[in-house]
Amino acid sequence: MHRYRVEPGSDAQIVARDTKDLKGFEGDKSAGKAAMKNLNSELEQLQEVLYAEGKHKVLIVLQAMDTGGKDGTIRHVFDGTNPQGVKVASFKKPTDEELAHDYLWRVHDDTPASGEIAIFNRSHYEDVLVVRVHDLVPEYRWRRRYDHINAFEKLLADEGTTILKFFLHISKEEQKQRLQARLDEPTKTWKFARGDLAERKLWDSYIAAYEEAITRTSTEWAPWYVIPADRKWYRNLAISTIIVDTFKHLGMEYPEPEDELAEIVIE
Ligand code: AMP
Ligand code: MG
Repeated sequence: MHRYRVEPGSDAQIVARDTKDLKGFEGDKSAGKAAMKNLNSELEQLQEVLYAEGKHKVLIVLQAMDTGGKDGTIRHVFDGTNPQGVKVASFKKPTDEELAHDYLWRVHDDTPASGEIAIFNRSHYEDVLVVRVHDLVPEYRWRRRYDHINAFEKLLADEGTTILKFFLHISKEEQKQRLQARLDEPTKTWKFARGDLAERKLWDSYIAAYEEAITRTSTEWAPWYVIPADRKWYRNLAISTIIVDTFKHLGMEYPEPEDELAEIVIE
């Protein structure tokens, strides 16, 4: 799954990447689902140690085109983890107060504390994506932000945060089907936003913005992964695999007890 990593210094090449890739699980959804079950229980255990040890901080950034599957990823990948140690921050259109500050102000507040996982459903990357596509600030301002973002993420990493960034890569055709499903299926209509149709017309501009953002900000301390996301089960599997692998390399342990517990007698 680490083949989806964008090597720092290399071009993301989003368009050249297959949104339907099923590497290792070609035509084998049931094997994929079984593997996912194991990954879920592994992550559940790893997150418990992360929380108990209270040492590492983990930041997971999710970005995607509309209907790309950020919500489904959060639901399935973190299924079974303890809500006490996992927080989700969703970044919407900035409020007046947020707009009156620099664009990283609202983001910093939601970064993870020791022992926590923070999941960003959208993120500071919107400030070089939607902001660029809609000309919300002049180009010279958003262009400087790649450097700010790299420095900000370096600060977080230096202070003990493990950062993983995922772009859920769907095709334009898949988006069409998912938007249509939001019109057709009563349980999905609540997700339909007319504005998504206008954004869809800007598909190519968004891809260009993502291409540059991911290329400029995939770093050793905060790498991007471009995840094939047309197949939801495979998307979940790929992301879970990468998160579980990363956690295993943190070398986490349950903390040692402070006292000689064997000497304690409970009366
Ligand atoms: P959703 O995630 O579907 O609830 O939509 C949230 C909306 O907020 C999306 O249209 C985003 O593009 C928008 N949004 C998020 N962050 C920003 C930002 N920094 N500036 C402008 N719009 C934003
Ligand atoms: Mg939406």
